[in-house]
Amino acid sequence: MAQDHKIPQVTAKRLPLYYRYLEKLHLMGKQRVSSAQLSKELLIDPATIRRDFSYLGELGKKGYGYNVSYLLQFLRDFLKQDEVTNVVLIGVGNLGTALLHYNFYKNRNIKIVAAFDSNPNKFNREIDGIPVYGIDSLKEVVQLFRVEVAILTVPVHVAQEITDKLVDAGVRGILNFTPSRLTVPVGTLVHHIDLTTELQTLVYFLKNFPEDELME
Ligand code: ATP
Repeated sequence: MAQDHKIPQVTAKRLPLYYRYLEKLHLMGKQRVSSAQLSKELLIDPATIRRDFSYLGELGKKGYGYNVSYLLQFLRDFLKQDEVTNVVLIGVGNLGTALLHYNFYKNRNIKIVAAFDSNPNKFNREIDGIPVYGIDSLKEVVQLFRVEVAILTVPVHVAQEITDKLVDAGVRGILNFTPSRLTVPVGTLVHHIDLTTELQTLVYFLKNFPEDELME
């Protein structure tokens, strides 16, 4: 969509949250919602919500709020929620296995189609209905299912090597759970989730800042 590039990343990250909540409102038969209501439910400041929506165009009316069906359809088109994105996971260790069991909020548009591991004791089986293959089949499976996104839960020392294989196979987005900083070509996106560092940072903040400074 032409507007995509104008939207700040922080806004883009919140859009799926709005989408999920609007879907819930829609199912409950609600026809309109105000930014104050959205704010209360999603714990996002109302001014932020209004600013986020203003990037998408004229979506609400003063005093009326937002029309739920309209906004939902708009976000669906915007987020291309009707398209299924096939995802693979590499490294079926403790974290990888947990993520295979995780239902990703039952998101119908993200589908983990396969997982891979180098350890023969871990492949040629299924976890929660997801087949686990040997890493040698990576390229073949990625191309067969037109996989665009990979979740990386391998040990740090093989992270770059696997990333290179993923890029070579055609993957364009990597959710990196390893502490490794990955090098990828232009056009490939890496989102880094280092759980250990996140936890350490939280502990550091708790220990080093007085309570009133921690208030947002
Ligand atoms: P576990 O205790 O089950 O090994 P873990 O999470 O502690 O789990 P890690 O050493 O982090 O294990 O490895 C995660 C997974 O990545 C393991 O299942 C391992 O077999 C797999 N793995 C290691 N090297 C590769 C590789 N080159 N390609 C694919 N998978 C790999």
